[in-house]
Amino acid sequence: MLENVEYVKADSFQSVSEPPLLNESKKTISDANVIAESNVEKVNVIMTPNVEDTYWLSDCLKDAQNVIVEYHDEKPDDRNFGDCTKFFSSKTFGVKMQNNGNASGDINLIKDLLSQPSYKIYVHDIFKDDTRDNRRMVTIVLIHQLLHALHPSRIHDSANVQKGINRLEHEIANRASYHDALLNLESLRQSGKITLCNV
Ligand SMILES: [Zn+2]
Repeated sequence: MLENVEYVKADSFQSVSEPPLLNESKKTISDANVIAESNVEKVNVIMTPNVEDTYWLSDCLKDAQNVIVEYHDEKPDDRNFGDCTKFFSSKTFGVKMQNNGNASGDINLIKDLLSQPSYKIYVHDIFKDDTRDNRRMVTIVLIHQLLHALHPSRIHDSANVQKGINRLEHEIANRASYHDALLNLESLRQSGKITLCNV
């Protein structure tokens, strides 16, 4: 008897909750958790973007490296690498999205080391949705972090004749026609939603 009662309840809940699900493509995570108890199929759909996250971040990393190779005319600090292409192909780069205490990006840079075998780069999860604007902003954030890896001795501001990381980032982004992403990032910074990186 008891089993029958429970079955009827679950069945009626599903039939009530399904129509709004079909109409609303965007569900929040908390909604997904509630749905998880009654509809396993829908949970699989919600989880798919997490897998894609990794996929498009590596796209942005490739774009960022290509833009630097094409538009950055300085060699890496580590003279063992004649150009940026050789530097990038000899290193391992891992990119992950997480909240860095408002920093738009971060890199595990070991100071006073010209270059390290592997780098971990973090991108603020404010950019987590896979949109064109986010992809372009993430590419700029990655260009910034890769410049830190290429020139670990440099600070954000220019010093003497040496261009700082911020100036290099702007020059490269402008040459590569990423003006829109620069403006969008600037607007996020001015609104206080993100800050410059922690390096
Ligand atoms: Zn920085």
